[in-house]
This record gives sequence, structure tokens and C-alpha cells, in this order.
Amino acid sequence: MNNQVPLYHHHGFIIIHVGPLLSTPTTPSHPHSPPTNDSWKSTLRPPPKDIRPQTEDVTATKGTEFEDMFLRRELLMGIFEAGFERPSPIQEEAIPIALTKRDILARAKNGTGKTAAFVIPALQQIDPSRPKIQALLLVPTRELALQTAQVCKILGKHMAVQVMVTTGGTTLKDDIIRLADNVHVLVGTPGRILDLAGKNVADLSECPVFVMDEADKLLSPEFAPVMEQLLSYLPDARQVMLFSATFPMIVKDFKACLFFLLFLQCSPTAG
Ligand code: ADP
Repeated sequence: MNNQVPLYHHHGFIIIHVGPLLSTPTTPSHPHSPPTNDSWKSTLRPPPKDIRPQTEDVTATKGTEFEDMFLRRELLMGIFEAGFERPSPIQEEAIPIALTKRDILARAKNGTGKTAAFVIPALQQIDPSRPKIQALLLVPTRELALQTAQVCKILGKHMAVQVMVTTGGTTLKDDIIRLADNVHVLVGTPGRILDLAGKNVADLSECPVFVMDEADKLLSPEFAPVMEQLLSYLPDARQVMLFSATFPMIVKDFKACLFFLLFLQCSPTAG
């Protein structure tokens, strides 16, 4: 039993913490033997190993392997080609739960692999043969949108997945032209995406996966009204995944985070 990562069930959300506030040192162990037919791995070219010292945030895993997660082969190829040998603790906790389509709220420090923790389950749920937006990844800044889209492209490289970034500060016309083409994953900032959804340019009506990275910022008073409207363009059966390095209220005052959960569960009203 790993007591490092408490899970709370609340209002249908599963809450995951990974980090030193609650951690006890654990010895990494890797009990699973690799699958017998590894020949597909030999065609991959992972980057050179990162030999910098690592902290427990990224090393204290339970020993799950990406191969244990029932991911599609093309996605596994992207993961290994990115140089990820095994999941980090937040990935190990969040990915299997996310794949069951549960709503999750996950907290882990920056640099612990949160991006792949939501990109991997998002990509796994995409059917590249369907020309529809199937995952909406919201982030607070253009810089983060570009980085997140890059992770989607790298991990989804063998999946023929089309990724689009849209943020304020570029012309809307270019986005309109791009959206006339196939887009499976839309990454961007809330204002621009709301604009595109409101103009019926971005069709989110069949988008089952909705992620907020740096969710504490996205649900701040600055963004919250936009988020509320944006949610009304998504199907009722969407999966919501909130990721953040700081949900201090989860630890200090668990009740305060109910705000986030209730906010997301109320039926949103547009306009
Ligand atoms: P966060 O979103 O928590 O700030 P990132 O997703 O940016 O963290 O990941 C930090 C770094 O760790 C990135 O360079 C990323 O490529 C790398 N990384 C993520 N997951 C893994 C993994 N499973 N194995 C090796 N490196 C990883």
C-alpha cells in the first residue's frame, strides 16, 4: 500500500496529490517484467538520457510501467521516443484514473510531468479517423499553450493526431482557416477559444475531454466567467481534468476546494 498519494472521492471528482507535503520516502521498485515482444521499441530513437539528479517527486514511483496502462501501440511509441522510460508519480496515479473517464483534480509540483499526465489519457481517447475536436486543453498563457501543444505533437507523433494552438494575439482569420481543416486536439487560452466556439468556428459539441492546466489560475476571478461560458459549449458527458502545482486550499482547507468542484458541476449558463 502506497500511502504517498491520498485519493479523495468528492462529488464524483477524484483528487490526487503528489508531493512532499504528504509524502513519505518509498523505495522505487519495478516488479513488472517487460512485455516479451519488444521489437517495435528497436525502431525508436529516444533522446539522450537526462542524467541530472532527480528528487523524489519524480522518482518515488510504485513501479508501474507505461506498458501496463493499456495504451495504444502508436501512443506508447511516442512516449518511448520522447525518452520517457516509466511514468512519474503523478502520471502513475493520474493516467489510469483518467483512462476510466473519471473527473480528476490533480496537484503536483512543477517539473513532475503533469503535462504528459493529462496529454497521454487525452490522446488515448482520441479517434484520429474522426474529424472532430476530441480534446480541449486550456492553459492560462500563450507560452504554456505552445509548450503543451508541442508535448501533444511529440507523444502523438505516431498517431496521426492533428493538434492546433490558439491564443489571443494572433489573427482570428488564421484560426478560422485552420479549423476548417481537421483538428483533434485544441490547445489554447480561454478567451480565444470562447470566441471561436461562440462564432461556431470551433465545434466543441463532441469534445469529451476537457483539461485545465494551471487550473488555479484558470478558475481565478479573472478567467472564471469565461470558463463558465466555455463549459456550456461542451457536451454534458465531458470528462474534466484539473491539474495544478498549487491548490493550497486542498491541503490547508479542503472545503475551499469545493468551490472548484461545485463550479464545474453546476450546469453552466452561457452569455
Ligand atoms: P510539469 O507540467 O509538472 O511542470 P512537465 O510536464 O513540463 O512538468 O515535465 C517536466 C519535464 O519532465 C519535461 O522535460 C518532460 O519532458 C519530462 N518528463 C515528463 N514525464 C516524464 C517521464 N515519465 N520520464 C522522463 N521524463 C519525463
